[in-house]
Amino acid sequence: MRASSRRAAIDFFRAAAAVMVVAIHTSPLKTWTETGDFLLVEVLFRVAVPFFFMTTGYFLARDEWRGTGRLLKRTALLYLAATALYLPLALYRGGLSPLDLLLEGVFYHLWYFPAVLLGVVVAWGLSRLGLRWALPIAAALYLIGLGGDGWYGLAVRVPVLNALYNGIFSVFSYTRNGLFYAPLFLLLGAAGIRLERGVSLFGCAASLAVMAVEGLWLHTAGLQRHTSMYLALPVCMVFLFSLLLSLNQGRNKTARTLSMLVYILHPWCIVLVRGGAKVLHLEGVFIENSGGHFLAVLASSFAAAGVLCLLRPVPLPADARAWKEIDLDALRHNARVLQEALPEGCALMAVLKADAYGHGAVTAARALRRCGVRSFAVATLAEGIALRKAGVRGTVLILGYTAPEYVPLLRRWRLTQTVADASHAWALADRGPVHVHLALDTGMHRLGIPAEDRAVLDRLYRRKNLIVDGVFSHLAASERLTAEAADYTEEQLRRFYDTVEWLRSEGRPVGLTHIQSSYGLMNLPPQPCDLVRAGIALYGVYSDPDPVRSPLDLRPVLSLRARVVSIRTLRDGETAGYDLAYRARGEKRLATVSIGYADGLPRDLPRRGGQALLRGRRCPMVGMCMDQLLLDITGLPNAAPGDIVTLIGSDSGAFLPAEEAAQTAGTISNELLSRLGRRLGVVVR
Ligand SMILES: *Cc1c(COP(=O)(O)O)cnc(C)c1O
Repeated sequence: MRASSRRAAIDFFRAAAAVMVVAIHTSPLKTWTETGDFLLVEVLFRVAVPFFFMTTGYFLARDEWRGTGRLLKRTALLYLAATALYLPLALYRGGLSPLDLLLEGVFYHLWYFPAVLLGVVVAWGLSRLGLRWALPIAAALYLIGLGGDGWYGLAVRVPVLNALYNGIFSVFSYTRNGLFYAPLFLLLGAAGIRLERGVSLFGCAASLAVMAVEGLWLHTAGLQRHTSMYLALPVCMVFLFSLLLSLNQGRNKTARTLSMLVYILHPWCIVLVRGGAKVLHLEGVFIENSGGHFLAVLASSFAAAGVLCLLRPVPLPADARAWKEIDLDALRHNARVLQEALPEGCALMAVLKADAYGHGAVTAARALRRCGVRSFAVATLAEGIALRKAGVRGTVLILGYTAPEYVPLLRRWRLTQTVADASHAWALADRGPVHVHLALDTGMHRLGIPAEDRAVLDRLYRRKNLIVDGVFSHLAASERLTAEAADYTEEQLRRFYDTVEWLRSEGRPVGLTHIQSSYGLMNLPPQPCDLVRAGIALYGVYSDPDPVRSPLDLRPVLSLRARVVSIRTLRDGETAGYDLAYRARGEKRLATVSIGYADGLPRDLPRRGGQALLRGRRCPMVGMCMDQLLLDITGLPNAAPGDIVTLIGSDSGAFLPAEEAAQTAGTISNELLSRLGRRLGVVVR
């Protein structure tokens, strides 16, 4: 398999949108049909710029607007560079005012950058109110803009509006800007509306047809002041963007960069094509013929953009050597499946310790927040702080021990601490106030106050500085379905609920109760608790192959891949790797793969019969070094350097589950996944 940048629908549509913008400024059909040209570029291609705004809004909101500052800075820098590039042309044309620099750009296409800058600030501000308020306000702004753009001729028939637009146009040249035009599309993008593909396709076609009728009518009636805004345009954009979202997989950075460069460079190319045509006496082909003109400008813009792209420093992609692939759709799917499996009133607490079992805690937390998850658990103070620093809101419970001297950090980062035992409680209280969940030891005998130790619990509740937000326990044997395990779990549950009941009867606030983790959820009947702490199930894998009582429809989130870097043939009796550990019996072909035990693979996998997928086939591992793995690929004559090897996950119809790799290594998937190395690249899909 190959990286899926080929289906990056959104990024490819960026390139298409750049072509549309070039067409808008070159009128390709004008030589043959004025009306056709109007319909094409002044109506249909008007989806291009709103599309850019929608992608911006979509990606900003997907990241909970955390990238806003960075985006504004980047846009401002790009705007500055583009301004410098066009200043000579602008000065040559004359008639430049300082206001242009701020609001409209020094050249006709540069209005886009100030519109992004202002639009993003306005959209971000509005989004603070929640989309329910933000969208109608942005729509109202758009309607005002529409009256100063496509529907101008109608709007100014109303005297009040006439005065309004006189006022607006004494400041702005157009209403197609960061105040009236950009915010709606930014917020529609932020809403990330996904409809069924068929619905999107039909809606897109229908609304484009409506927009064509609207455009023709406004045009023939001579009502337009400008042709950027139509009543049907936002509707059209919702369907179009939903269609693209349904097709989108992965990213294509080149398409993205190319489209931005074409957008910036094409007016210069128009000037150069015109100049060049005059010098070469080819005006007939490249100026008077609108099609020739368009194609020449398009080709030269893409050529210039392509050259600039090539001049960029070579990026190092995450999938160059060995990498984890994180499928966020699968994570979201699992979160929904778990949420649906919970009884009424019980919420999911996502366990993100050990960097989300190797899946990336921050990425996972952000994706989970979008599914409505508001509680997270980590193992350590540092893990909790890392989530907060990345802007993750909601409850973050530290399940492990935190030394009392760091209570100020717990407060500073609004983290909730588990009370590990009685002496931990007193030490925390000494430095409090601190928000805690009480761990009750009901039989795990690891952390927590013994559930029956009512004297300690009584004392604890009388300490002022411990704010008890929750009471929980951890099951020691919920993974197993044996009678012994079931009895043990039964006893743990009894001790837990007895103590919770007693606390309640004493008038002690217990806050949120929780006792199940992934296996507790899958192996027990519904429990009368407020939270379920799920880790491994969220990542779509089981710890081991043992059966569970109610299996869930989970999808594995993580794949582990590396590349074939070299292939060689061994004659009978030759050895490979350290210690002469592998000896070829008969002629063998070996592939050296760019992953090793320093990347977290157990070193004894080859000896235990470990396998990896190459071109959809299982290949035995025959040697494991720190940075390299040797695979026996005899019988795969087409394998070639650069091929992707799958250590965990699917490849061309074959599947190698994490459970299997873990079992081969003599461990559980939790350990295998959480030990994956920091050196691995991460590809998030
Ligand atoms: C790790 C952990 C969990 C999550 O367990 P999974 O089996 O991965 O769902 C829940 N509770 C506590 C206390 C843990 O340490």
